[in-house]
Amino acid sequence: MSLPPLVEPADELTVDEVRRYSRHLIIPDVGMEGQKRLKNAKVLCVGAGGLGSPALMYLAAAGVGTLGVIDFDVVDESNLQRQIIHGQSDVGRLKAESAAASVREINPNVDVVIHNVALTTDNVLDIFAGYDLIVDGTDNFATRYMVNDAAVLLGKPYVWGSIYRFDGQASVFWAEHGPCYRCLYPEPPPPGMVPSCAEGGVLGVLCASIGSIQVNEAIKVLTGIGEPLVGRLMIYDALEMKYRDVKVRKDPECPLCGKNPTITELIDYEAFCGAISVEAQEAASGATITAQELKEMQDRGDDIFLVDVREPNEYEIVSIPGATLIPKGEFLRGTALERLPQDKKIVLHCKSGGRSAEVLAVLKDAGFSDAVHVGGGVLSWVKTVDPSQPTY
Ligand code: ZN
Repeated sequence: MSLPPLVEPADELTVDEVRRYSRHLIIPDVGMEGQKRLKNAKVLCVGAGGLGSPALMYLAAAGVGTLGVIDFDVVDESNLQRQIIHGQSDVGRLKAESAAASVREINPNVDVVIHNVALTTDNVLDIFAGYDLIVDGTDNFATRYMVNDAAVLLGKPYVWGSIYRFDGQASVFWAEHGPCYRCLYPEPPPPGMVPSCAEGGVLGVLCASIGSIQVNEAIKVLTGIGEPLVGRLMIYDALEMKYRDVKVRKDPECPLCGKNPTITELIDYEAFCGAISVEAQEAASGATITAQELKEMQDRGDDIFLVDVREPNEYEIVSIPGATLIPKGEFLRGTALERLPQDKKIVLHCKSGGRSAEVLAVLKDAGFSDAVHVGGGVLSWVKTVDPSQPTY
């Protein structure tokens, strides 16, 4: 299915621009008209991280006239393995600022707009309204659903991508011409079921594979060439080195873009996606200690049994001294309980406190009523107790 161009052409290209974009201009499908459309285009990249890095760099090089960058995070050393828009000297700098500097260096003709804020239901519609197309490079479900809903409510197309370890996916969601993200994924996965890249890892170069597909599709939608990924989901397996695409149909019952929509405004996405489950929140209330408190317990020689519920690879990177590794999955399967001593106080920890709260709920159910977990997990331990250790 080919679609009409999203953007009208700019009046003209300068002599400098003609020189710069000559390899585009001599492709018949792009040509002068396509390049003028790119010049007139306003594209917003949500996130200047793994996907946002290559996406912003290629959108800039391609001559997209206005590029928005939204990110409130700062560059961390653990980002540099894949977030190639940032360099060593950017560590500690705001990602949006660092990304904007790289974009200006790649192509000074681009007008960069920095949104150094967290995207929320209060600002998303206003921010999106200033752009023709959104490129979604977010890594959490709450923001993904918010990006989708805002784009559909505003009638704007967006290019979605997702990455995990060696697997990537991409699609173009444009409710006017095809399905939306909710048609494909009506409900978010249960909290804790799908690990994030921070928990499960991601091959750095996978970001480039998927981010460049996103730019490819953005250019096609902006200029109206080729067959965009509207109504198709691209699935990439880097280990097998296979791409395949599956049809995604518009769901007539979709609560957002279907025939009788019930979602007509933005909702509470954190609640919708349940950052941690109600059971875990209840279990953790009154049973959460700080990393400092754990250190004090250890220094006093308290009779505790410290359990790290992360995965072995994570344990190898950094661990809290004295912790026994029993991954969360073993608790969910029920095989871990017999490994726990009955006469000691159980203290759980994970990376940042989400998984350990889920396990805490399992333990409370099983009768370990005085079990606690470490809020902020090993990240908090490194920050407040032993800053010499690495984080990830
Ligand atoms: Zn839909």
